[in-house]
Formats: sequence, C-alpha cells, structure tokens
Amino acid sequence: MVLQDLGRRINAAVSDLTRSPNLDEKAFDGMVKEICSALIEADVNVKLVAGLRKSIRNTVSFKDLAPGVNKKRLIQKTVFDELVKLVDPHAEPFKPKKGKSNVIMFVGLQGAGKTTTCTKLARWYAARGFKACLVCADTFRAGAFDQLKQNATKAKIPYFGSLTQTDPVAVAREGVEKFKKERFEIIIVDTSGRHRQEQDLFDEMVQIQQAVRPDQTIMVMDGSIGQAAEQQSRAFKEAADFGAIIITKTDGAAAGGGAISAVAATHTPIVFIGTGEHMLDLERFAPQPFVSKLLGMGDMAGLVEHVQSLKLDQKDTMKHIAEGVFTVRDLRDQLSNIMKMGPLSKMAGMIPGLSNMMGGMDDEEGSTKLRRMIYICDSMTDKELDSDGKVFVSQPSRITRIARGSGTSVREVEDLLTQHKMMANMAKKMKGGVQNMQRAQGAM
Ligand code: GDP
Repeated sequence: MVLQDLGRRINAAVSDLTRSPNLDEKAFDGMVKEICSALIEADVNVKLVAGLRKSIRNTVSFKDLAPGVNKKRLIQKTVFDELVKLVDPHAEPFKPKKGKSNVIMFVGLQGAGKTTTCTKLARWYAARGFKACLVCADTFRAGAFDQLKQNATKAKIPYFGSLTQTDPVAVAREGVEKFKKERFEIIIVDTSGRHRQEQDLFDEMVQIQQAVRPDQTIMVMDGSIGQAAEQQSRAFKEAADFGAIIITKTDGAAAGGGAISAVAATHTPIVFIGTGEHMLDLERFAPQPFVSKLLGMGDMAGLVEHVQSLKLDQKDTMKHIAEGVFTVRDLRDQLSNIMKMGPLSKMAGMIPGLSNMMGGMDDEEGSTKLRRMIYICDSMTDKELDSDGKVFVSQPSRITRIARGSGTSVREVEDLLTQHKMMANMAKKMKGGVQNMQRAQGAM
C-alpha cells in the first residue's frame, strides 16, 4: 500500500537531514514538515499528525540540547518513537490459552473482509498447534455460509452454519456450544455486516455477543477506509466494545493511514493485517516491527516467525541468530526462503535494508534481483559462506572472483556484503531474543 511510499518519504527526510552538513533548527523544521505532510497524504488523522509534530519538536529542542548530544541519533530515535506511539495503544492484545475454548467474534461492515479473514486467522492458529474452527453467524447475506464453507474446506478447518436457520443468534449459540463440547481451542464466529452502520446490525451484534460471550471481539476494517475510520471505529467500539482490530487489504493502493488512526481513536491494538486474498496473506502486527519495516529497518523476528510457520528449513539460522551470529550462508538461506514465500514485495520489508534496496521495483524485477543475489552466494566457497564476511575486507580480490563467477558486477557483490553486514549486526543485537520469542510462542 501507499504506506511503503510513506516509509520511503519519511526515511528520505530523516536521511537528508542527518547527512546535511549544517544540521540546524531550520533544516530540522523542514524535516518535521515533510514527515507531517507525508503522514497527512497517507490519510493519518490530522489531529494525530499535529500531536506528533509537537512531540518531535519538544523532544529535539535545539536551544536546550547539551553540546555533546548526538543530534543525528536523537532525531532518528525520536522520529521512530513517535511513529511507534502513533500505532501503539499501550493495550495488551488478548492471548488465547491452550487447552481452553477461546471464542473470538468478528464484527465489521459488509465487504470489510470478515469472512476471508476469519478463515485466515483460524488457519494461522491451526498452523501454531491450536484446534481451530469457524462458526458462520451471517444469515443476512445470501451466500455467506457457502463462502465460509469453501474457504474453510480449502484450509481444512471444521465449520458450522445453517442454510435454513434465519436467526443469527441461534446459529452462533448452537455452533459455539457444539465446538466447546468438542474441545476446540479457537472458535471464531463470523457475523454479518451491513452496508452502513445500522441500528439493527448493532443490536444483532450485541445479542450475538451476549449469546456466545466471546473472549475477544475483533473489528475488521478495510484498509482503504481513509479519514472515515475514526468515526466508524468509534461507533463499533461503543456498540460492541471490541478488543482488537484487523486491517485488511493493506496490499491495495489505498493510503492506509486512516485505518491506523482507528487505533488512537479507540485505544485498541491492531493485531493482524491482511495483505492479500490468499489464505496465507495475514501478518501479525506489532507497533515496533511495523515502524521498523515502514522505515526499511526490517523485522527479523517477524521473518523468522513467518518462516517457522511455513515449516521451511530454518534450523541453523535460528540457532545462529540465538547465538548472535549471522553468516553469509544464513543470508543465502533467507533469500532462497523468501523466494518460496510468495510475493516479494510483502517479504522484502522484513529484511533490514532490503526494501530500500528494492525501492520501486515490481515483484518480477525484485525476484530477478534476489536470484542474482543467490547466484552471488553460490559462487562463494564454503569457507566464505560460513564466514562472518570479514574475509572479503581483508582479501577484496575475492569480490572480483565472485562477480565474475556469478555473472554479476563487483557493485552487486559489495551490495550483498553490505546487506549481510547489516543483518549480522542485527543478529548480534538480537542475541538471546529469538529464544525468548520461541519460548513466548510456546506459551501462547
Ligand atoms: P465480508 O463481507 O466482511 O465478509 O468480506 P469478505 O471476506 O467477503 O471480503 C470482501 C472482499 O475483499 C473479497 O473479495 C475478499 O477476497 C477481499 N479481501 C479480504 N481481505 C483482503 C486482503 O487482505 N487483501 C485483498 N486484496 N483483498 C481482500
């Protein structure tokens, strides 16, 4: 979505400023202005942008800065922190418990992507060892049950619904009771949406809520909603008091900032984002990795987690990252995993620096670029692949040899090594973090 452009613009504004020889207040104001207009063009709520502008100005107050302060670092960190604040409601999302029936109810307008997303979410939990199922309480839209049935069958998720029963509350109650008896751990209830926010819809929603008593209500919101997001999310919050948001269609051309503003309007966390029509196009959302990706800084933990869920071979890299090591071979393995994981534009953001390097390329150009990077790795010796990359600094002739052997250029080999160095530094910082992450997932 256009958020990628937003990330690029913010990044460019910060880099221009921090590279500029005279980092003064005037240049700084210019950067803040550019960031704010980029956010407003991406449909982020105007009031939120004004708040962000004030916060950045207050934190980086040129007059009060002590002489020894590293201004560049302070500016980068402030912009990062403020963007995180924008998407972080400081509310912990609900974590389902294993061995217990967790009921999750979906609400949202018609066409928001509820039916598609509830199957994606059930599959997501099933892939992580939960016994998951679906209940279709949308008796309003003809064909809703059929659609859910088809999706669920494809994803091999058990489902419940009725072609004859017209009372959604009765269907929801019956389905949830049945699956609870069968000891399902994740029971997702899809409800009907209407074209507009109608009182009938809200009454029905509340009745279903009372009947199934969900552990979590999730509002599904179309990512292209723009500035209307704030009002719509407030209306749903008042009626259904949802505890989490899923934003869909983030792969589309819409600016996406509006949906993000729903977080601030309702103090509710975004838990997932939909990134396409396919069953696997669902990504977990967390404020820090999101901003990190937005600014081209990558999301290594997200990448590792995603690869794990796809059950691709990942053992060595996981072990290495846990030890704070990242070899050139690890980079090669990650690149080839990415090629297997579907559209590149979605995955590249997870690798630090890669989305900037691929800026503006379409998926085909991106794949060619990745393939060339893999050729480069394949022209290396085992010793080079298993190294930390320093051998290339001490013996640069290796670079020329590899470029010739892989049919690429010296510049491309150097770019790959820069990329590797960035990831190796990241791995060093993450030392131990992956183990903690795995432990946390196990406990989920
Ligand atoms: P509902 O009325 O809220 O149940 O919406 P549906 O699940 O029927 O979705 C409406 C349309 O949006 C369908 O054509 C879906 O394929 C599409 N859709 C849902 N989520 C996404 C997404 O993340 N990306 C894209 N591109 N399309 C989506």
